[in-house]
Amino acid sequence: MIPSVMQAMVLEEPGKPLKPAELKVPTPGPDQVLIAVAACGVCRTDLHILDGELSHPKLPLVLGHEIVGRVAAIGDKAKGFAIGERVGVPWLGWTDGTCPYCRRGQENLCDNPRFTGYQIDGGYAGYTVADARYAFALPDGFSDAHAAPLLCAGLIGYRSLKLAAAPLAGELKRLGIYGFGAAAHIVAQVAKAQGQEVFAFTRPGDQPAQDFARSLGAVWAGGSDEMPPEPLDAAIIFAPVGALVPAALKAVRKGGVVVCGGIHMSDIPSFPYDILWEERVLRSVANLTRDDAREFLALAPEIPITTQVSPMPLGAANEALEDLRQGKLTGAAVLIP
Ligand SMILES: [Zn+2]
Ligand SMILES: [Zn+2]
Repeated sequence: MIPSVMQAMVLEEPGKPLKPAELKVPTPGPDQVLIAVAACGVCRTDLHILDGELSHPKLPLVLGHEIVGRVAAIGDKAKGFAIGERVGVPWLGWTDGTCPYCRRGQENLCDNPRFTGYQIDGGYAGYTVADARYAFALPDGFSDAHAAPLLCAGLIGYRSLKLAAAPLAGELKRLGIYGFGAAAHIVAQVAKAQGQEVFAFTRPGDQPAQDFARSLGAVWAGGSDEMPPEPLDAAIIFAPVGALVPAALKAVRKGGVVVCGGIHMSDIPSFPYDILWEERVLRSVANLTRDDAREFLALAPEIPITTQVSPMPLGAANEALEDLRQGKLTGAAVLIP
């Protein structure tokens, strides 16, 4: 039985806390499935939307794009899922399929995208609807809460690692990770499984985060103000701190790669050209493609990835976001409606 109303945490205006509200359970459109949300991860992007750092969200908005739930109803034309099947919904919620980027296999850069929990209501609610073509079956072996961080932290981390490795032609042995939160704790496991050494950079003096990184196999952990003991082949920056860009460029070798994995970052301070010189590469990562999702969700149980989560009731969404802002979380906060 699908109820007519549900609990949700709603963003009415950026800069203000989310408000608990009772909303009508949505009806799936022809290409959509209705999903009873079992768990929804809290991502730093949610914080950027809440703070107004990402412009023009749908308002009022239900945040949340690391959604795990079960199919409760299926639209006329929606394919691929059965009632009751477990499903995951990531950030990429819809693309036009016709723009130059979609046609060249870069749907992550679509000119007319819609993102879950940004232009489409997300998973901080009892139910949500999602386009079935952008939803994924989830691997067994992960509880609902433990699967949630795979859907953004895992996917974006995976894409960041792929793009860090691409220009290095198999020579990625030493990987630095700046900001050791939800994405880092997953990508560190992928990197280790691929035979790379992980060097973890945290806020200076953040001993718990450095211990957490070592527990996941990092060979070195230190403050972001420190240099690694040896030059890195590549570095991924997950912390939204522009000052880390020159720090990471200084830490990579000639021809090394620095990838900015976040959707928003504070301004990057000016830096001398010689830290980019010698063919160092600096690039960002935007969103994900469905192929990234298929690859990563197949890889996750093979490694196998373990995710560290802090489950919290849906009504504690504001507290979860504040904990994330203050760097109090080890791993990922996950809301349980
Ligand atoms: Zn497109
Ligand atoms: Zn995210």
